[in-house]
Amino acid sequence: MTLKDKKSGDDTLPARFGPGDQVAVLLPLPLGTAYDYRIPAEMMLSAGDFVSVPLGRRTADGVVWGIGDGDVAPAKLRDVIVKLDCPPLPAVSRRFVDWVAAYTVHHKGAVLKMAMSVRDALTPPKPISAYALNAAAPDVRETPGRKRVLAVLSNGPPRAASDLARAAGTGTGVVKGLYDAGALIKVDLPPVLPMPVPEWNRVGPALSVDQSTAADKLVANVRNGKFRATILDGVPGSGKTEVYFQAVAEVLKRGGQVLVLLPEIALSAQWLARFRDRFGVDPAVWHSDLTASQRRHTWRAVAEGSAKVVVGARSALFLPYPALGLIVIDEEHESAFKQEDGVIYNGRDMGIVRAHLGNIPVVLASATPSLETVVNGESGRYEVLHLPSRHGGATLPDIELVDMIKEPPPRGRWLSPALAKAIAETITKGEQVLLFLNRRGYAPLTLCRTCGHRFQCPRCTSWLVEHRLQCRLQCHHCGFNVPIPGECPECKTENSLVACGPGVERLAEEVELMLPGVRMTIAASDNIASPKAAAELVRRIEDHEVDVIIGTQIIAKGYHFPMLTLVGVVDGDLGLQGGDLRAAERTYQLLYQVAGRAGRAERQGRVIVQTFMKKHPVMAAILSGDRDEFLKAESKSRQQIAMPPFGRLVALIVSGPNEFTVDEAARNLGRTAPNMTGIQVLGPAPAPFALLRGRHRRRLLLKAPKETQVQPIIRQWLAHTDWHNSVRVQIDIDPMNFM
Ligand code: ADP
Ligand code: ZN
Repeated sequence: MTLKDKKSGDDTLPARFGPGDQVAVLLPLPLGTAYDYRIPAEMMLSAGDFVSVPLGRRTADGVVWGIGDGDVAPAKLRDVIVKLDCPPLPAVSRRFVDWVAAYTVHHKGAVLKMAMSVRDALTPPKPISAYALNAAAPDVRETPGRKRVLAVLSNGPPRAASDLARAAGTGTGVVKGLYDAGALIKVDLPPVLPMPVPEWNRVGPALSVDQSTAADKLVANVRNGKFRATILDGVPGSGKTEVYFQAVAEVLKRGGQVLVLLPEIALSAQWLARFRDRFGVDPAVWHSDLTASQRRHTWRAVAEGSAKVVVGARSALFLPYPALGLIVIDEEHESAFKQEDGVIYNGRDMGIVRAHLGNIPVVLASATPSLETVVNGESGRYEVLHLPSRHGGATLPDIELVDMIKEPPPRGRWLSPALAKAIAETITKGEQVLLFLNRRGYAPLTLCRTCGHRFQCPRCTSWLVEHRLQCRLQCHHCGFNVPIPGECPECKTENSLVACGPGVERLAEEVELMLPGVRMTIAASDNIASPKAAAELVRRIEDHEVDVIIGTQIIAKGYHFPMLTLVGVVDGDLGLQGGDLRAAERTYQLLYQVAGRAGRAERQGRVIVQTFMKKHPVMAAILSGDRDEFLKAESKSRQQIAMPPFGRLVALIVSGPNEFTVDEAARNLGRTAPNMTGIQVLGPAPAPFALLRGRHRRRLLLKAPKETQVQPIIRQWLAHTDWHNSVRVQIDIDPMNFM
């Protein structure tokens, strides 16, 4: 087997390979290259075909990536076992795999693995064997059970044995007995229901002038059928979704497929309802919470082209679309599009790449576009469409800052008098309140008031968070948890533990004290982890079963609740701590999004942000509503230090179970760091999470001018450095997270 690089998606390749030809087969394993195999007699293959091949003593499924190198000794060359009965991986998908691997500096096989994540889907689903009445049935002995089975079938369609037995209230043995006696025959049912086809020609809502101007542009881009990146920049509630639905309808009319990427697909109940309203059916959904059979069905339906609209998390980019005509990246600024483990990539950026490779339009929708995107809009690389006002005359909420130094809450409380008053007033009016605090649990830190002991995770650089409802202290990074002890583990004093700082549970306690009996719900990942739980929460809020919602960022974005008129931001400064490159930008985006939840219908909204940093540029920008001014200032300060988007970063994260070997590897990388003009390497330094899930972590950061091709530099660097095999070095191109 050879280890040479193979090209793919190359149109100059012969279309078909036949018996005796050598083909390169890429396997979904951490391998950088494809392996050569020979095609046996009577088999024809094309690039993109899925095949099974021998690998050592086992067999593996892979994809024909192109022509073989031909440099394997014929005696060692092994035959392809079988061509799998599945549509081929399209050329554009193969080019995408190559591209992502090269850009992220990961193995091609590891990227391919994301494109063939459902092994079962590579073979067609088997028909379901069912039973029907035998018209020419001989007389059989009738028991009550048998009679019921025959009655079910005489009134309905054929059914599978278990299904039939259940409907007749008997066991499958009775069904089998009837079959053996000749009263029933076996028939094949289609294995799965076909994907429903969206009704693109339904009439959508009448669009406002601004909306239809934007929609017309997007539709024109679809008709042009070329790569074009468009920023759909509109305030919350301006109808961005309705606008891009017009472009979706246009693609469907032309028989193409559409991919909509959402940052939190598990929580997109409202989006799905909107889609159903507009197109009459459910779209295909793709995220990590699907069952094995849903994954299989959806993957196959995408490959066969019958799934017309896929709404999904970033991994949906790697599905094998044969006819993708449009990509929409909704909430493009969201850091949830970044995948932080395995192949580290940014789903937003790779979405743009995928559109470019497929020569199709891509829409980046947001009320708070990221600085990268804004800069691309200003330079003219991306087209910009604005939706400046809320739909239906709803006005943007009034925003007030509460200076927590001048107007602090009472001791041991977290709500300032001004916010407390506003909450009471809003509820009296019969409207709803959202209190936003991005902290799960009861308190972020527990300590002993006698000896000062602090509860820390033994496996992470992190405090244990008290979850009072579960009576446990929990690590939010590795899941480690213990019951809340009765005494301090260090000084053994009883009843000496105190909770420090607020989490959503503690805030709920405070609201309950203030307004006894108020109808309240907590919205955090602890209690709305599944799409079902999220949908139920949305329903309860929409049906006004709760007056106060206390939530983390899980509820801060994208939702539309007409009766929600007050948003209180309990700790507006939270995101500004830590000094991350994007701290100000992210805090601004988050506060703006949260504020956008207030007053989405006829009722005027009000937003109160509690802060200790009233003069901070983020607070000033939130107060004035002058986003462009803020972005200009942020852009200038990044430019001055040549940071993204005006410079490039690559992070190396060195980790392992043994601190000594990790340090040694990090020091080695420091020593062999590239020494080139314009390129700077910072570190190694302990990561802020110097210990995470039991692994010690060190970081290095390479900083380069924007136009530098960093990948060859990184490859060279790593190729000339050694480390102990217990150590892992992860490469993060364009890092978002510096922890
Ligand atoms: P955004 O995505 O910009 O926050 P949405 O598309 O969610 O805005 O629209 C906000 C609300 O306004 C939704 O309930 C949507 O159905 C409604 N809406 C937007 N545009 C129209 C329109 N032209 N006609 C009727 N309803 C609209
Ligand atoms: Zn931990």
